[in-house]
Amino acid sequence: MHGEDLLASLSDVSDETEFYTPMPAGYKPGQTKFVAVFGTVMSGLGKGIFASSMAKVMQDKGLAVTPIKLEGYLNRDSGTLNPYRHGEVFVLDDGMECDMDLGTYERMLDQNLSRLNFCTSGQIFSQVLEKERRGGYLGRDVQMIPHVTGEVKGRLRELAVVSGADIVFVEIGGTVGDHENAYLIEAMRELQYEEGPGSCCFVVLTYILEPPALGEQKSKPAQLNMQRLNAAGIHPHIIACRARKPVVKKVREKLALHSNVPMARVFSMHDCESVNLIPEMLRSAGIDQAVLELLNLEEKADQDSEQEARGAWNTYTQQFREANKPITIGITGKYTSLRDSYASIIQALEHAGTHLGAKVQIEWIDSTMLADDAVAQMLQRLHGIIVPGGFGTRGADGKLASVRHARQQGIPYLGLCYGFQIAVIEFARNCCSMPQANTTEIDPDTAFPVVDILPEQKLIEGLGGNMRLGGHDVVIKPGSILAGMYDQAKSVQLRFRHRYEVDPQFIERLEDKGLIFSGKAAKHPIMQVLELPPDTHPYFVATQAHAELTSRPLAPSPFFLGLVQAALRFSGSTDLGSTNPKDPNDAEQSPQAAETA
Ligand code: GLN
Repeated sequence: MHGEDLLASLSDVSDETEFYTPMPAGYKPGQTKFVAVFGTVMSGLGKGIFASSMAKVMQDKGLAVTPIKLEGYLNRDSGTLNPYRHGEVFVLDDGMECDMDLGTYERMLDQNLSRLNFCTSGQIFSQVLEKERRGGYLGRDVQMIPHVTGEVKGRLRELAVVSGADIVFVEIGGTVGDHENAYLIEAMRELQYEEGPGSCCFVVLTYILEPPALGEQKSKPAQLNMQRLNAAGIHPHIIACRARKPVVKKVREKLALHSNVPMARVFSMHDCESVNLIPEMLRSAGIDQAVLELLNLEEKADQDSEQEARGAWNTYTQQFREANKPITIGITGKYTSLRDSYASIIQALEHAGTHLGAKVQIEWIDSTMLADDAVAQMLQRLHGIIVPGGFGTRGADGKLASVRHARQQGIPYLGLCYGFQIAVIEFARNCCSMPQANTTEIDPDTAFPVVDILPEQKLIEGLGGNMRLGGHDVVIKPGSILAGMYDQAKSVQLRFRHRYEVDPQFIERLEDKGLIFSGKAAKHPIMQVLELPPDTHPYFVATQAHAELTSRPLAPSPFFLGLVQAALRFSGSTDLGSTNPKDPNDAEQSPQAAETA
């Protein structure tokens, strides 16, 4: 039976039907295809990177794609999650705080996503419980199957309608066998049943071990997990094997044999230098053709658009491989032991470095270890410093010390969110005779609360989803470094996630001593970007925004371009002239800003 017929038959059911298939208005069965990506053996295999790369190769064929991440946890969003455990909190334009994988999708697909692209169990269960109170289940006992799974399918179909995509890429969070994602896997089984053959493509990302003592690749855990997936009613069409080195044929044969997946669709997905190399790796393995065939999409594919898209992307990856001017950027943060906490910053540095031919080395500096007297020694090899976003007191002194060092020694500096606020505090303390200046986040009783809680935040109780979030316009001061970075535009939209701001009553004092606020909120006196004049410092720029979130491989963030370019100059390894219009630092440079304290 075809999907359309089956879905039609769902309207002709018994009074006490066992089916529950909410259909959003405008949903046309059979029009949208679904690719679902499952993870087995263990987490952390890069399912989001894989799914987004797959979505990209299909997008390159001229197909409209949209992703959705289904998370098993009960939080409504990622806002209350500790980045140390879960990786960075990514923020979308509409203010959704979500999993870092959404950042990977935005970067790969060069698409701005919305809250419809991120769904947690917390959202699904809230919806079910609210609907039950409204009598939405018509006297039925509300069950995991069909009701909860029905709401999951409803979310996927709603996304299909709103996005108008040809293919919805569904990433199932967690690993097969986790309790919390079992019902999500079941929802995918039901979706395939309802939509019919040729509408869903199931992809499994698995892991091939290579114990050093054996020196050979082993597939048993992958095989056992495949059985588990089969038992859940999911029979994959494609298997991608993650491994350190290319997966040998014998291992792929074993997996093919144990899963009924033809060898031609059992791929090796071994480690590579940059996530941005993966789409081409998938393409040369033939995954794109496999998906087209499985979903009967051949006719919609467009060769010309593929050539164009591939050309631009491959130029980028080629430049990435060829970039050879070494610079070292230090990132001082609290979560330095987990690179995922700063995933977007790492990417933004890669984007800017690649465009400028720089091979950016990152040096992680634990700000909790940065005592004042150790700063010069710990930061001595750096050509640039980033103080990233953060919360609370721990490590703040180390961040302040590194900002001071950057400002005094003329080391290129980029402050992001907390790094902007810390720069204001440092300047107030050391250049404006406000020795105990602070943020009230650290010291509520400070005599100089140069950074204070946003007025609208004072009334808020609880922690979830209530910061100043999402995309907001920033009005640009003409003639500033910022204006140069954005080609003299009057305003730019950046993304935010903060509770505190520069207290407007201190702005004049800070500006009097030479700090320039070059970006301001459109409707409120909220300072969004600061800079020191280029004749006093080679590059001292900070923003209340998270500039890293909107950097894309083919459109790097100008904040990061500015930093990397200044770092190249600082390292003396560049021959970039003053002809580059994006170069804000043409003036003679003096090594430090005037200090008045
Ligand atoms: N803690 C600061 C605030 O809430 C900065 C937030 C951040 O860096 N994301 O305003």
